[in-house]
Amino acid sequence: MSNFLESSSLITRIQDIYTALPPRVCLIAVSKQVPVTLIRQAYALGIRNFGESRIQEAQAKQAQLLDLPDIIWHFIGRLQSNKVKAALQQFSWIHSVDSLKLAQQLDQIARQLGKKPNICLQVKFLEDPNKSGWSVSNLLTSLQELNDFQHLQIRGLMTIPPAGLTPQKTLEVFQKNQYLAKQIQEQNWSRIQMQELSMGMSEDYSLALEAEATMIRLGRILFGNREAFPKEN
Ligand SMILES: *Cc1c(COP(=O)(O)O)cnc(C)c1O
Repeated sequence: MSNFLESSSLITRIQDIYTALPPRVCLIAVSKQVPVTLIRQAYALGIRNFGESRIQEAQAKQAQLLDLPDIIWHFIGRLQSNKVKAALQQFSWIHSVDSLKLAQQLDQIARQLGKKPNICLQVKFLEDPNKSGWSVSNLLTSLQELNDFQHLQIRGLMTIPPAGLTPQKTLEVFQKNQYLAKQIQEQNWSRIQMQELSMGMSEDYSLALEAEATMIRLGRILFGNREAFPKEN
């Protein structure tokens, strides 16, 4: 299957997923490696939230989509210091804030740019060499400092379970994320908010919904296998 999906199957997939989603849930279409023509099709079908994981690739696509100004762009990849400014200019949501140092840089540059980015803190509940994220203890001891950042709107927690877990273990990771957000919320910070749970991808979003995900990030289940698309950039 190296062909692009027909638009009819994109319609079906989007409709099937939407009808199963509780109203609280924001569907983020992960368009990394996906050509602009398919992003336009998804947009025409009502999708407004798109996720990208590489700044340069996103920049190239966004430049071609300036006629669709109501797209909400979510950055979901690992963010390097030298890309913080570009990330703030291009994205209104950053889901992958994984350290105090990064939060501090974001806060500082957001102030300079006059931005108030929406932030999710990425938490890592199990060892995973492929993923970054806060440990629970490190996050809990950093909350005071995070609460002091005046230019960040910290909205919730993001997590990605390690690949290859059983459904039960995957669900447990999502539930830990849900519990941690609740625990932080109960501390009544003046700035930090915890109403968003960004969790669930194509393979595991139904488990994430069981743990009350509010933002699911779906790529392949909407657009098909990314590896099948020609590299644009
Ligand atoms: C690629 C990616 C997704 C989407 O993954 P699919 O398996 O294609 O649904 C979601 N979240 C993050 C952080 C990603 O990098």
